[in-house]
Amino acid sequence: MKKIIVQKFGGTSVADTDKIKNVAQTVIREKNNGNDVVVVVSAMGHTTDHLVKMAKDLNPNPSAREMDMLLSTGECVSIALLTMAIQAQGYKAVSFNATQIGILTENVHSKARIVDIKTEKLKKNLDEGNIIVVAGFQGVTEDGEITTLGRGGSDTSAVALAAALNAERCDIYTDVEGVYTTDPRVVQNASRLDIISYEEMLELAHAGANVLHPRSVETAKQCAVPLRVRSSFKLENMGTLILGVEKMEIHKPVAGVAADSSQVRVVVCDVPDTPGAAATLFSCLADENVSVDMIIQSYARKVSNTNDIAFTINKEDLDKATVILKDVQAKLGAADVKIDDDIAKVSIIGAGMIDRPGIASTMFKTLAENNINIRMISTSEIKISCLINKEDAQAAVKALHDVFNLGCDEIADVKGTLPDV
Ligand code: ADP
Ligand code: ASP
Ligand code: MG
Repeated sequence: MKKIIVQKFGGTSVADTDKIKNVAQTVIREKNNGNDVVVVVSAMGHTTDHLVKMAKDLNPNPSAREMDMLLSTGECVSIALLTMAIQAQGYKAVSFNATQIGILTENVHSKARIVDIKTEKLKKNLDEGNIIVVAGFQGVTEDGEITTLGRGGSDTSAVALAAALNAERCDIYTDVEGVYTTDPRVVQNASRLDIISYEEMLELAHAGANVLHPRSVETAKQCAVPLRVRSSFKLENMGTLILGVEKMEIHKPVAGVAADSSQVRVVVCDVPDTPGAAATLFSCLADENVSVDMIIQSYARKVSNTNDIAFTINKEDLDKATVILKDVQAKLGAADVKIDDDIAKVSIIGAGMIDRPGIASTMFKTLAENNINIRMISTSEIKISCLINKEDAQAAVKALHDVFNLGCDEIADVKGTLPDV
């Protein structure tokens, strides 16, 4: 039986017809290696951003169902065009959207999780010698409703397809040459990593390194899908391989640095210090699918017997959360709800920091030396995150990248492939 390779091409890789022709060549090259090829594509260039803007021009609060209906169209354009480009080279190819295949998701709009992928149609078409081109980012519910997987979700479509088809590997083709120690657009001498563990990559992705959608890494880890990130434009470079931590030797305590400015901080002030207050607050948010990231509860004030509860959520969820929080404030008898959107989360990640003292203090000291105030802190076994002012984010990333010796002598080649804005 032939091996199946899943290839995913992001928006920059299919930004115009010349780039689509280039992608067609890469796909055909894999087919000529004797493999079956399933290709997942994103919407062209900044299509999704433009669609979001148009929606907001017409309705500041568009319904999630109609947003999914709208945003899923971007990927449909790409699959048809890429398929035509492949066919123009004399190869058999066929495009499918998520509904045609049966990429089934939960019944949640705008950030649905994939629950199952039907493989019959895919296998039949591969057996007939077709290259298959699939629309990323979208899914369908049991009832036939169109859903999307969240911004950047085409990576997850690709990995989930690779898992469902038991593919040999999943190659994520993008506009940089792999996973770097930090965003090479922010720190020019960031080093490309040859390998990184699923665990570290997952933390990096959650911390804001948008080179991979977090759920794609989660799925790759769960289903042991070998995952590679590589450049669409420099095919000779093998990029970065993401694999299980047990297969790696860890030299440095910190593998990477990331910043995320997509969150807002919420402070619920003067919450009465009674059992169940936090449970009420966070279950109301969870019921409406609002994910919470960092959480801090202050010590109870002796006189008023109240706490402040501060946490961060995604900006995208702010409108929804504001309505919920008004209700919760009244329910809990809290004094006020404050929102602060001028924040960024900066994180250091590394499996090598386990049992190595001094990493946190070096991070805090470095931020202090750069006059950067820390407003919240959270940690996991392999990650330390600090919430800081947004204007300090780039300086913080550069300083932390330096202090943990992550740079190299080369300057990453990212300018040539910057998307046309
Ligand atoms: P695509 O459209 O191919 O999905 P994305 O824009 O989603 O591409 O992701 C690629 C971008 O991720 C790069 O251009 C880079 O600026 C950014 N990035 C952030 N952190 C990292 C990192 N640690 N390594 C590589 N790229 C990163
Ligand atoms: N087109 C979608 C987005 O821009 C999905 C993706 O590119 O992965 O978020
Ligand atoms: Mg992406």
